[in-house]
Amino acid sequence: MSGSNQRIDGKRLWDSLMAMAEFGATPKGGVKRLTLTEVDKAGRAAFTGWCEALGLTMRVDSMGNMFARREGRDPSRLPVLMGSHLDSQPTGGKFDGALGVIAGLEVMRSLHELGITTEAPIELVNWTDEEGSRFGHSLMGSGVWTGVYTQEKCYALADVEGVTVSEALDAIGAKGSIPAKPFPADAYFELHIEQGPILEREGKQIGIVTGAQAQVWYDAVLIGQDSHAGTTPPSARKDALVGAARIITLVDEEMRARGEDGRGTVGQLHVLPSSRNVVPGEVRFSIEFRHPEDAEIKLLADTFPAKAQAIANEMGLKLELTELFQIPAQPFDPSCVDLVRQAAARNGFSAREIISGAGHDAVYVARKVPTAMIFTPCKDGLSHNEAESILPEEAEAGCQVLFEAVVARANRAL
Ligand SMILES: [Zn+2]
Repeated sequence: MSGSNQRIDGKRLWDSLMAMAEFGATPKGGVKRLTLTEVDKAGRAAFTGWCEALGLTMRVDSMGNMFARREGRDPSRLPVLMGSHLDSQPTGGKFDGALGVIAGLEVMRSLHELGITTEAPIELVNWTDEEGSRFGHSLMGSGVWTGVYTQEKCYALADVEGVTVSEALDAIGAKGSIPAKPFPADAYFELHIEQGPILEREGKQIGIVTGAQAQVWYDAVLIGQDSHAGTTPPSARKDALVGAARIITLVDEEMRARGEDGRGTVGQLHVLPSSRNVVPGEVRFSIEFRHPEDAEIKLLADTFPAKAQAIANEMGLKLELTELFQIPAQPFDPSCVDLVRQAAARNGFSAREIISGAGHDAVYVARKVPTAMIFTPCKDGLSHNEAESILPEEAEAGCQVLFEAVVARANRAL
């Protein structure tokens, strides 16, 4: 193999991934490590121990975001950040999030073992509550850190048992004294599993992530009239579910009209009154569109509501469509992306450019700090699933790219 003779230790990386997967291990081979629980606390403690064993200095901010710092040669330089998240979905896998944090740990261990001192300091980050599965709000730690959300609002969010984020942070001792807000940093790199099928399908080892998609999300309520299934003839029906079906088909058509870059999903549907012999009088459903280009999302936001309204009108239904938000596309920093590209090429890894289909901490961090992401393939594109699976050599390749990109950035000439 070509590339740097400074290699990360793939076996040590894998062993540590498996060790972290013990915290919240499920019988089906997955992980349940919900944010700010006792299990998360134990995982955080292990992570802290591993970092401190390398002489790294730990800081925890008021959202529980953890930063493990390794000093550089030049104290005036801004730190290069790398990381991801250690929390998981309730039926999550071993690698979503954990890969980026544990690979960052392996980068730190390799620097330590190889006796490398970089010019700039390097900090390894574990962002709190990326998944949003406990408090219903994803990307919380990085969102507060970057100022997308206020801490006050996030502190007040409660889980199903009524425990607030603020209480949960206190309960596991994760509420640090330093404020969760951006500090000057030179760059941020995040390694993550793709959570989709593209790399695997094309036999690529590395995804060079160039940015994240633009999105528009809606809540839809379609109102018709409950009526007897047996006595209401077609001419008298105001069937909200049939209307919803037509709007769902419209969402799919809008997506497919945009080729392989299109995304359009109705993932939630509540049918009322949900009785088998009542024509449904009301349907509540979610709609979201995503696309790499802002212009396409803007076009959808401008035209989709009227098309959906036309369907409702034609069927004598009332449509309430609420736009929840529009997020612009987030391009990553070209110079950071290029370091990922160069590291993959130096090692002879097969690679392709890719747009992130999912939300990631890096997407918010990119608003404040020059950012890039590295994707590795995952089996069958499966994630948020206990069967989530990657190969040790895939983790190793991703970690080697992370290592080389971070070191190159930390040593760059200013
Ligand atoms: Zn993740």
